Amino acid sequence: MTRRKLVAGNWKMNGSLAALGELDAIVAAADAAPGVDVAVAVPATLIGPAAARVPGVAIGAEDVHERDAGAHTGCISAAMVAEVGASFTIVGHSERRADQGETSQDAWAKAAAAHRQGLNVILCCGETEAERNAGRAERVVQAQIEKSVPDNADGSWFTLAYEPRWAIGTGRTPTLEEIGSIHAIARAKLRMLIGDAADGVRILYGGSVTGENAATILAVDDVDGALVGGASLTAAKFVPIIEAAAGV
Ligand code: PEP
Repeated sequence: MTRRKLVAGNWKMNGSLAALGELDAIVAAADAAPGVDVAVAVPATLIGPAAARVPGVAIGAEDVHERDAGAHTGCISAAMVAEVGASFTIVGHSERRADQGETSQDAWAKAAAAHRQGLNVILCCGETEAERNAGRAERVVQAQIEKSVPDNADGSWFTLAYEPRWAIGTGRTPTLEEIGSIHAIARAKLRMLIGDAADGVRILYGGSVTGENAATILAVDDVDGALVGGASLTAAKFVPIIEAAAGV
């Protein structure tokens, strides 16, 4: 099955109203690459202004709460981000697992909450360096997928992102063989869980993707796009990744 490439940015706790100007050149690059889907997850405060500024690019949240509403001070629901223009959310990012102690079960509940509100979901998984060094990367990723992927996931709203934690923001990446191997294992696990729908689910690679390494990573079997942190903050660094995806 042919899956359109998706290049998704994650601004994390970076950006400002002034920084939204970066999106203008990103939209132009997305328009010039009609075969590629482009999305940018921004801090909650910027979702509304970003969605209003660039209706042509999918703007998303970096997280949502697993409940639709209620007494959860400081949290933001899927309905809230959808109302101001988000079309998707990231869930289960490793920084939230590390900083907020989120689990794969939490990611499952957040994905389900987002889907209830009509949001697309990018669900992250990935091993730590210690887990990889112990030869456990495959088992860790399989277990995360098993616990976090909703039964009704399909490619119309659900995307998986494989992000080895040790590759995030470090400038280090797995070998192409290691990336291909985990993506194949992830696809097989998805097939066990959701059957043929797995063929339509995009699996992104994330972790130190740049304009320099994007083309080779995106050419690996079963790599359907990239989730990009640091290099998504400026058009100068993000646009070459979009262009690389268009050329693969
Ligand atoms: C991320 O945080 O999802 C990520 C992939 O970050 P970076 O591209 O900076 O490694």
